[in-house]
Amino acid sequence: MNPLSQLPSVDRLLSATALASLVDAHGRAVVTGMVREVLAAARAAIKEGGGLPDEADLVEKVGAGVTAKMRPRLRPVFNLTGTVLHTNLGRAPLPEEAVQALINAARNPCALEYDIESGGRGDRDNVVDELLCELTGAEAATVVNNNAAAVFLLLNTLAQKKQVIVSRGELIEIGGAFRVPDIMSRAGAKLVEVGTTNRTHLKDFAENINPRTAMLMKVHASNYAIHGFTHAVPEAELAALAHQHTLPFVIDLGSGTLADLAAYGLPHEPTPAEAIAAGADLVTFSGDKLLGGPQAGLLVGRKDLIAKIKKNPLKRALRVGKLTLAALEAVLALYRDPDRLHLRVTAVRQLTRPEADIAAQAARLLPALQSALAGLPVTVEIVALKSQIGSGSLPVDRLPSAGFAVKPQGKRGGILNRIEQGLRALPKPVIGRIEEGALLLDLRCLAEHEESGFAAQLSALSGLGA
Ligand SMILES: *Cc1c(COP(=O)(O)O)cnc(C)c1O
Repeated sequence: MNPLSQLPSVDRLLSATALASLVDAHGRAVVTGMVREVLAAARAAIKEGGGLPDEADLVEKVGAGVTAKMRPRLRPVFNLTGTVLHTNLGRAPLPEEAVQALINAARNPCALEYDIESGGRGDRDNVVDELLCELTGAEAATVVNNNAAAVFLLLNTLAQKKQVIVSRGELIEIGGAFRVPDIMSRAGAKLVEVGTTNRTHLKDFAENINPRTAMLMKVHASNYAIHGFTHAVPEAELAALAHQHTLPFVIDLGSGTLADLAAYGLPHEPTPAEAIAAGADLVTFSGDKLLGGPQAGLLVGRKDLIAKIKKNPLKRALRVGKLTLAALEAVLALYRDPDRLHLRVTAVRQLTRPEADIAAQAARLLPALQSALAGLPVTVEIVALKSQIGSGSLPVDRLPSAGFAVKPQGKRGGILNRIEQGLRALPKPVIGRIEEGALLLDLRCLAEHEESGFAAQLSALSGLGA
């Protein structure tokens, strides 16, 4: 008999008891679709000369297919890469206060563009602009989708068909195709490069100012550093020069933390407040880098300039939603208490976490990892590591940390790849890194309350030996 005609029907497979709970959970349409896919694949395999598959195998394939299809794509993971603000892993995790604010705003109507006192229309920037001014010393503030959008909007508003003078040492590329010259041309502004890669002087700017100049701009070279024979013009001197010519001086700060990180033993990162105090007319920075908030681009500075920016029709296209504003407001509010940032802002807590604390956690978790990998030809040890801040913040600085190094016994390097894949296949994937012949798991970003969940799922790795 032709095996094709012996394949079970869609209805027959659907009625398998093993699939009833899937229909319950995900609905008939999804399971029916998968049954059809699995039957089509079985038919194709038979046409290629294969035999009639077991009905139980078909049911199992449908189950696995539906489970995989319905699993969310945006899954939480353990970030053990050693990079705290990992752009590919969503940058800063939000503090609990921000998570609660976000849930509240998501679940309920909220006064997003509504003035509760007057009962009239409001402006969504009002959710955070006073806080931003308080924390930076600026006169006005506005918020857009991310810092790239902030830079774009400010150039498009103030420098369209005009010239923007930038030092050659600051024509940077941030990962993910943000390049200063490209953003500039897309915004309709003409870039005027001055100075050299390593040294730029005030006269380089002064000599290039003409009636078509729109502004002087400084871009924080976030993700790289130049050492040796270097010179950059101090902000205050650039501001003074710009103001002599009644031009604005703007700074793209990149990360722009609102706190003095040096107080926590981290290297100093320039703050928007310092930039404003030095005479900058506009400053832009990210919400989800060192600030530790949601993805957003913050623009602070002179009232008249912010007002112009807000009138640009592109502001509407680049604006943020209520979820972002809710989270941002909650995070900014935490900065009113700078003494406790390291306890309350998750990203700051991770960045300031003491090495000894991380090493103690490694000691607690070592037995679980060792027993999970027991049958495999590898050694597991606790090692000192260096975390990095990430997202182009403080690129050359490393934070002393601790974690695990899994090394192959003998020359069988392939085992590391298998373990690394196995870690990624866990219910909550664990993302580490392979470096110089070892699989490294940096524990800096593993919170204490996540420890037991982390350890509990490791036992699934023991299947890797087979
Ligand atoms: C990160 C960064 C940007 C881009 O910020 P996003 O918030 O990622 O859009 C722009 N400029 C500088 C200097 C940066 O460091």
